[in-house]
Amino acid sequence: MRLYNSFSGQTETWSIPSDRPVTMYVCGVTPYDTTHIGHARTYLVFDTMLRYLRWLGAEVQYCQNVTDVDDPLFERARRDGLNWRDLAEQQVERYTLDTAALNILPPTYFPRASEEITGMITLIEQLVEAGYAYVNEGHVYFRITFDPDFGAIARMGYDDMLRTANQRGNNPDDPRKQDPLDFVLWQRGDPDDPTWESPWGPGRPGWHIECSTMAMRYLGPQIDIHGGGNDLIFPHHACEIAQIEPVTRQRPFARFWVHTGMVGLDGIKMSKSLGNLVFIRDALQNHSADALRWYLLSFPYRSEFSYQQEGVEQIEAMLVQIREALDPTFGKPASGSTAYTIDRAADAFLDALDNDLNTSMALRIFQSMSNDIHHAASEGADVQSARQTMRQFAGILGLRLAPPSPSST
Ligand SMILES: [Zn+2]
Repeated sequence: MRLYNSFSGQTETWSIPSDRPVTMYVCGVTPYDTTHIGHARTYLVFDTMLRYLRWLGAEVQYCQNVTDVDDPLFERARRDGLNWRDLAEQQVERYTLDTAALNILPPTYFPRASEEITGMITLIEQLVEAGYAYVNEGHVYFRITFDPDFGAIARMGYDDMLRTANQRGNNPDDPRKQDPLDFVLWQRGDPDDPTWESPWGPGRPGWHIECSTMAMRYLGPQIDIHGGGNDLIFPHHACEIAQIEPVTRQRPFARFWVHTGMVGLDGIKMSKSLGNLVFIRDALQNHSADALRWYLLSFPYRSEFSYQQEGVEQIEAMLVQIREALDPTFGKPASGSTAYTIDRAADAFLDALDNDLNTSMALRIFQSMSNDIHHAASEGADVQSARQTMRQFAGILGLRLAPPSPSST
């Protein structure tokens, strides 16, 4: 398979291991608001990756975390007068229902940061011992000057890294830090926030160490694919690399770093802070899961695009014909003795997915295969085996394509 690696900036060829499971870690949600289309796009892409790898015969161990130790969750819980654990629980349940509605398969492991604190403390202790981290007034920071390759994944100079980090929550003026870019591994607890006991006093872990700890615990010191939205490349993934490699002494931490592009609305990036979100739950009131899934996968996964409801509506119309083409009761009874074949198109479909998971191309081929089958079935050709292949491919794309129910015709 050919896959684009954000770390090298190149599309690399990957021989999928046959003697061990493929490991994939994808950064999960902070459970304080319902799931929006931008999240859905990311998890759909990795769901399709999972399905495709399985189709190729790989056993995939997929870990996706829940970031339930994070400022936005605590702030929302305070604002709404809720216990943060109750809020997280409620939101995780919604997330699970929303993603299931989109036919996104559950990950093999779904750990919560709040239940993994011990492992995080161990990792931080190892970094302090090795000199990569320092303690100051109950806080522990990662010393970036100890890592000459810090931020290599972002391919930015120091000033750009600092500017980007500051936009994404870094406090460059923290007087306890030796370098403004040093990042928090452990922070002393605010009286209002939940805290855990640690060798440095009560407090809580920083966000970056949460993911590294869970990835290592569930998938091992080296993983095949580490994924997430491209807004996580810096600082989140750069920090993950910096803090885990000195402990495991294995490089690279992830064989492939795979990042999805952001989804916008009317040309502006969809984000909680801007409030311009389209929630999956609402979108599914107006559209079928198949149409939404098709729409979101019709853009190459690294591209950015603006969500447009009309785009989903057009797909809905097209799906009517695709469902009909795959419906065993549609068409004239087969008259000839030779089966209708779609072998060349089927090869092209799989080639598209093999080429950096090009779902956009795969969907176009899928549609044209369906048109051909529709036509052939109307003419009385034997399309049974072609339909079977299409059903398998629909499974890779996560499309249910349930036959039209008699009441809806
Ligand atoms: Zn993460």
